[in-house]
Amino acid sequence: MTKIYAVGIGPGDRNYMAPQAEKIILDCDVIIGYTAYLKLISDLVTGKKVIDTGMKCETARCEQAFQEAKLGKKVAVVSSGDAGIYGMASLLMEMAENETDIEIEVIPGITAAIAVAALLGAPLANDFAVVSLSDLLTPWQIIEKRLEAAALGDFVVCLYNPASKTRVNSLQRACEILLKHKEPQTRCGYVRNALRNNHQHQLCSLQELSMIRADMLTTAIVGNIDTKQIHGKLVTTRGYRFE
Ligand code: SAH
Repeated sequence: MTKIYAVGIGPGDRNYMAPQAEKIILDCDVIIGYTAYLKLISDLVTGKKVIDTGMKCETARCEQAFQEAKLGKKVAVVSSGDAGIYGMASLLMEMAENETDIEIEVIPGITAAIAVAALLGAPLANDFAVVSLSDLLTPWQIIEKRLEAAALGDFVVCLYNPASKTRVNSLQRACEILLKHKEPQTRCGYVRNALRNNHQHQLCSLQELSMIRADMLTTAIVGNIDTKQIHGKLVTTRGYRFE
């Protein structure tokens, strides 16, 4: 059985990459991923075959991984954050369904929601939902349905992919849906480039979040009814009683 590793490299800063992810990357002959992610690990890939297939070439990237693995190479496909969360792990497994001698192993990484939550405070202390606003593979009506259900259930909501170069108003549209069941003053926060150079974070209300200009390097967190701002941090209180 040949193994292909789907490796999550975390948000960016090397201190937040799992030692096992680093070990697997160092151990592999072929590393496949987006240019931006490969740059973050450039020191780990010197002397290896590096395949950079660019955005929106995910299936081609998996096929290349299979080809290299069949040649007897050890292959790692890298994703930012966690490879199983809006990453390459599921596509690799789906495409490997009809392969008899390829097995996919996922090496977990710190996903954006976790990195962003830590920078903002402790907003994920109770039930939360993660919703991607990218309608590239999921129709917008379904995204709307999930947002409305999450708001109705008073989940804390993490919003991935709030914008792209061509998709500029998704965050505003998402906030409008959340505002059907959440108060305009609901505490929120957003982080750009979490745990990378130049990271920026900001706390705001849901009303204000609907007006910010987000980009594809941003993740936003919308609080629940118990989310507060304490000493400049976003905190979802859990209901403990203390004096
Ligand atoms: N597999 C990744 C998610 C890829 S989807 C993970 O587990 O984190 C891409 C989206 O992730 C971006 O649009 C952004 O919303 C979020 N993201 C990834 N890295 C980020 C970072 N360092 N800071 C803020 N958001 C990030």
